[in-house]
Amino acid sequence: MKNYNKQFINGEWVNSTSSETIEVINPATEEVFATVASGNKEDVDKAVAAANSVYLEFRHTPVKERQAMLERIADEYEKRKDDLIDTITNELGSPLKVSDQSHFSAGLNHFRTAAKTLDTFEFEEQREDALIVKESIGVAGLITPWNFPTNQTALKLSAAFAAGSPVVLKPSEETPVTACILAEIFEAAEVPKGVFNLVNGDGENVGIPLSEHPDVRMMSFTGSGRAGQSIMEKSAADFKKVALELGGKSPLIVLDDADLDEAAESAVNRVVRNTGQVCTAGTRTLIPENMKDDFLEKLKEKISAVKVGNPREDGIEVGPLISKKQFDRVQGYIEKGQEEGATLYYGGTGKPDGLEKGYFVKPTIFTDVDNGMTIAQEEIFGPVMSVITYGDLDEAIRIANDTVYGLAGYVVGKDKDKLQKVARSIEAGTISINDCTGPQTLPFGGYKQSGIGREWGDYGLEEFLEVKSIKGYFA
Ligand code: NAD
Repeated sequence: MKNYNKQFINGEWVNSTSSETIEVINPATEEVFATVASGNKEDVDKAVAAANSVYLEFRHTPVKERQAMLERIADEYEKRKDDLIDTITNELGSPLKVSDQSHFSAGLNHFRTAAKTLDTFEFEEQREDALIVKESIGVAGLITPWNFPTNQTALKLSAAFAAGSPVVLKPSEETPVTACILAEIFEAAEVPKGVFNLVNGDGENVGIPLSEHPDVRMMSFTGSGRAGQSIMEKSAADFKKVALELGGKSPLIVLDDADLDEAAESAVNRVVRNTGQVCTAGTRTLIPENMKDDFLEKLKEKISAVKVGNPREDGIEVGPLISKKQFDRVQGYIEKGQEEGATLYYGGTGKPDGLEKGYFVKPTIFTDVDNGMTIAQEEIFGPVMSVITYGDLDEAIRIANDTVYGLAGYVVGKDKDKLQKVARSIEAGTISINDCTGPQTLPFGGYKQSGIGREWGDYGLEEFLEVKSIKGYFA
């Protein structure tokens, strides 16, 4: 059993003011594998004070120094590869290969990309005799969810460090051990004292005091709309800037000229990846009415080949959900779908055969789904697909946009004009045509209730900056 019962504040592991601890459960075994500190407001106050004490100095470090720091972090991160992969599999339950290729590499990419972004990022601009300066916003509070423990933390941390903003990180209480390893990585990379502070704990005792703290100038949050709203409300008291990455209910539109085999492969991948615990999951699959039967056959072929099971076993693609709470929630949605009249086409409630221990669920497909049904409107955060039929392309676009969310959208087909029309028409921050992935520097974020602001690359860095204009500077 690993114990991380201290907080990392001002460059040191210190006792938490609270004596409480949180048990971290391995979702594949349902056993406790670690404990971490369960902090409180006093811990937050100490961490913010540490960050604030170095703010002016860190803000003025030469860009080259911050770049070198990010490169050192990336090097140290690589050295901890085995630990990170093992820990992510323990706390999230993702298959080892996924922990490596998706989670570990995402974190590494963010640190390397942030360093590279600094090569070309213009912090200053002359306009006639005036100077425009972009400078660090100040102390940033970072709150992250459990579904991508290295991706979301590294994304925010790398952008804040690139901008010159010291931080207080509160990671998810479900996956806090990865963040403790990050603290060790920053220690090894000689991140200056006070620049990185980690306070483990829950939303109520750590997240809220952080959002309310008057010396925090910005909150960057990824997680549910419920918590995002609370953070925004608390931040409103002193007009803190907020950047929110929230949920989604993203459409995947299959065009009438699509290769059905490729479309089905894409649709299944979009919904089972990370056991469906992906904010950009393409959970509403839209298919022309007259192609439905053939497409469902293809979906069944693809989804039945997905291997769910022990994340430490070779060949397993999908592990358990994160927790009992999440398991019950997903079961509830599968029941709700049937109650509201959707047809359960594949999967269903209960655990897959032979997987009685662990929070495993059956990859599930509903058909005959009306877009107004609960399963088509609410984020399930599990491997559950709703297949919805459409008549013409305008109807497909109308259904795609009939949601409070706007995080992502997918379109699969051949006709370039139609692909581009759909891509331009979906109200969402990220669209992928025929599964293209694009560079690491593309902006990421949501329209509507999927969030405020953008992350990744130069757009992500901008979030942590204030803009100052100095008139007469060159006069
Ligand atoms: P959550 O909102 O319950 O928790 C996220 C974090 O917020 C945790 O660290 C939690 O302790 C903290 N928190 C909870 N209540 C808080 C409060 N009142 N004030 C401050 N902090 C609080 O979300 P989760 O269950 O961990 O993650 C799942 C959700 O995250 C899903 O809705 C998913 O769509 C969303 N998500 C969005 C993105 C994105 O980039 N858009 C990425 C991943 C996950």
